[in-house]
Amino acid sequence: MSVNHLQKIPNIIRDNIRRKILSWYDENRRIFPWRAEKGQVPNPYYVYLSEVMLQQTTVATVDDYFRRFIKRWPDLKALSMADLEDILVEWQGLGYYSRARNLHKSAKLLADFPCFPQAPEGLMGLPGVGDYTAAAVASIAFDHPIIPIDGNIMRVFSRLFRIDVPFTNLKREVFLYTSPMAKGERPGDFAQSLMDLGAVVCRPKNPKCDECPLQTCCQAFLKGETSKFPVPKERIQKLVRFGIAYVLLREGQIFLEKRPEKGLLGGMTAVPTTPWLVDFVDQGDLYSPEKGLDWEIMPRQVKHTFTHFHLHLTVKVAVSQNSPAGIWAPLETLETVALPTLMKKVIECVPDGFSLDPCVKPQGY
Ligand code: SF4
Repeated sequence: MSVNHLQKIPNIIRDNIRRKILSWYDENRRIFPWRAEKGQVPNPYYVYLSEVMLQQTTVATVDDYFRRFIKRWPDLKALSMADLEDILVEWQGLGYYSRARNLHKSAKLLADFPCFPQAPEGLMGLPGVGDYTAAAVASIAFDHPIIPIDGNIMRVFSRLFRIDVPFTNLKREVFLYTSPMAKGERPGDFAQSLMDLGAVVCRPKNPKCDECPLQTCCQAFLKGETSKFPVPKERIQKLVRFGIAYVLLREGQIFLEKRPEKGLLGGMTAVPTTPWLVDFVDQGDLYSPEKGLDWEIMPRQVKHTFTHFHLHLTVKVAVSQNSPAGIWAPLETLETVALPTLMKKVIECVPDGFSLDPCVKPQGY
């Protein structure tokens, strides 16, 4: 169905969909620590925090993190006064640290505000808040009539209305269907009911159409074509980039540095690396933190995947002779440093007991 057909969807069908899914939601809503109980007023801080955590992370993973966060920083004021390093340590494993930094910046801004911005336009003024997060917070926390369009909601709508545009262009098309439908009673519950339906019933594979409240108005179901929607996006091969990570050791310590603010893992504490390039060439000591050392190449490469590329890092290890200036972190307490997952993988590459004497290798190495 094309956009031109949108006007032909009678209001009665839209109202029917709203009514059915809201009554399904009342019986089947998922329980989350950040979600208000039925009839309760949502806590905007909980909604905002969870939406930031849920970007690119599953609800199952976020559950634990969220509980730890609100135990330690129960409200925005507490979060605004937190030490950024403590937040980054708690964030470990949740993906991009820029989100934690933006969360902290937003908390500081909001702590001075008389009230939480309620409309998407106001929310988008907060650091790191894009159109999806703004729509999600506005609808869930403040009943603003807008539907945040995520992958689940795109899938539900593409099937409901047999929207035959490729996944890459689907969001814009779905928006044309959701915007008139967002208006009506309980906008926040309506948005969450669509999220839940997409996650639990209208699953990517084998949707549970027999349990779906929208079965009788789902055009893909009625035509036996649920597996054809959404129309898949063309598969794009991710590029592979290469580089070297340098693990420099001295008596029970490891050399770390702050990465430049701009770029991937910006501002994070990390072992020094070369740039990460598709056509990488090892340029000897050019990027190593200490020149003239006998760098050992670890037998295993570290492989890590970012959103747009795969990274293969060769790990080189050496014992420092001149102790260059920088951060020398004790290996024993390394878990208290907010290290990105990639850097943990790099350090794990070095066998336990790697000798400070370059002539002595640990057993099995
Ligand atoms: Fe999805 Fe099936 Fe429900 Fe249609 S009937 S919305 S395909 S679960």
